[in-house]
Amino acid sequence: MTITRHAPQHAPELRAAARHIGRRSFLTVTGAAAALAFAVNLPVAGAASAAELDVRRIDDDPFTLGVASGDPRPGSVLLWTRLAPAPYQPDGGLPAERVTVHWELAHDERFSRIVRRGTATAHPEFHHTVHVQVSRLDADRVYYYRFRTGTWISETGRTRTAPLATAQASSLTLAAVSCQAYADGYFTPYRHVAQDDVDVVFHLGDYLYEYPVNSVGGYRNYTDRTLPALFNRETVTLEDYRLRYALFKSDPDLRAAHAAHPFVVTWDDHETENNYAGDTPENSVPPEEFLLRRAAAYRAYWENQPLRSPQQPTGPDMQLYRRLHWGRLAQFDVLDTRQYRTNQAYGDGSQIPGPEVDDPARTMTGATQERWLLDGWRSSTALWNVVPQQVTFSQRKFDLTTPSRVSMDAWDGYRASRRRVLDGAKSAGIENLMVLTGDVHVGYGFDIKDDFDDPDSATLGTEIVATSVASGRDGIDKPANWDTYMKANPHMKFYNGRRGYVTVALGEQRARADFKTVPYVTTPGAPVTTAASFVTEVGEPGLTQA
Ligand code: FE
Ligand code: CA
Repeated sequence: MTITRHAPQHAPELRAAARHIGRRSFLTVTGAAAALAFAVNLPVAGAASAAELDVRRIDDDPFTLGVASGDPRPGSVLLWTRLAPAPYQPDGGLPAERVTVHWELAHDERFSRIVRRGTATAHPEFHHTVHVQVSRLDADRVYYYRFRTGTWISETGRTRTAPLATAQASSLTLAAVSCQAYADGYFTPYRHVAQDDVDVVFHLGDYLYEYPVNSVGGYRNYTDRTLPALFNRETVTLEDYRLRYALFKSDPDLRAAHAAHPFVVTWDDHETENNYAGDTPENSVPPEEFLLRRAAAYRAYWENQPLRSPQQPTGPDMQLYRRLHWGRLAQFDVLDTRQYRTNQAYGDGSQIPGPEVDDPARTMTGATQERWLLDGWRSSTALWNVVPQQVTFSQRKFDLTTPSRVSMDAWDGYRASRRRVLDGAKSAGIENLMVLTGDVHVGYGFDIKDDFDDPDSATLGTEIVATSVASGRDGIDKPANWDTYMKANPHMKFYNGRRGYVTVALGEQRARADFKTVPYVTTPGAPVTTAASFVTEVGEPGLTQA
């Protein structure tokens, strides 16, 4: 017998039965799976282990923040949840005790064909988050999962494993999302992502924003949601960041998207602080002080995302860049362009580029990540080489003048770094380069040019920029600078200022990008439309309207 999703969760006789089943489940779990699940959740060495909570004391649903899965690999996936009966309280509504959580993975949504089950520990040291790595599964297969503690059962998540590295996978559809400012709008695009038939969702940064989310001190909440006063401050401490994840993850549309698809996440600046660069904060705070804040932000990020143990941070350091494969169809080099970058040139913002942006000593990726990326391309056998990352890669002139202002925070402010990456792609001989980008709260489609100032130079790949989920409020299709941008940047093939997301279908002949937009987010329930669709053919980089 297995946990029955449809059973009433509070009938006393079922409560007793569920506890009994739980004990049996624990005995049947394989040692390897239990060890893996535990290792990921182990508190820091030397920490005294907390007492174990009697789960009968959990009076309210602890699964208020839903479930998630992430980083699908061949035959393996990472499952996530957090126990928080009172998510807007600093302690989440639980005492500082560890809690045993049971998990199940099945072939079917009704859990009649269980594949694997086990237990994990939700440690107070990790804010009662749970990371379970499940391995030795079938490759290229859909699975359903759920968690239970005491008599409380989570919603059911759907996930999948990646095809074997050697498999001739014929297609993959991904969604790309970014930038979800809670005070700017409802997360309606996620409602549509949840319903789309996609294999995996890439989150390209700004999963949360550090600013107050109520209308206080110059900040403004554009939605009708009024939130507890503890969200009236900018996030600085570990408690601040943890509470902010609780707020964002309580959103029903975001929860639905996480439950529907595995996510591959990378951060941008706002998960820590606007436009920080390496150990340099936005404002004049000493680096050693900022690194404490960065450590808090990174830890809360790891706790709250479906990430595997190699991503677990050590103090202010966290290796987020990593490589995933989808058979021989695609290689994904997920970048972190925040943690290792040189400070922005010329005081940041939009500036006329001077010699600093071409200084080879400056870097967007750091030397180690850059070497890792170029080495990875050299050994790539994938048809598509996809780079999910944060900030705009292609040149983006803001004016029709020469020279023109460009963004110092984007790759335009790190031209020598971009040149090395493009030269690395060329010398590796990779053919189908596609960069996925977030950050700018509009959708763009770019041809990546060998020389952006020469429209006749070779097109080396394409860049798909996903607009924001909510940041920037409702938006419009054609922002006031639309004509200027399109004229100043002939390699810009698409520009739209609405909220939404992008789906990209990678195939053996071509890739197709659908830019999906919603007409409004400041009120809930908007429908979705496809603003435009583009294709790029294998071996012939460049976007053409479908
Ligand atoms: Fe943003
Ligand atoms: Ca950003």
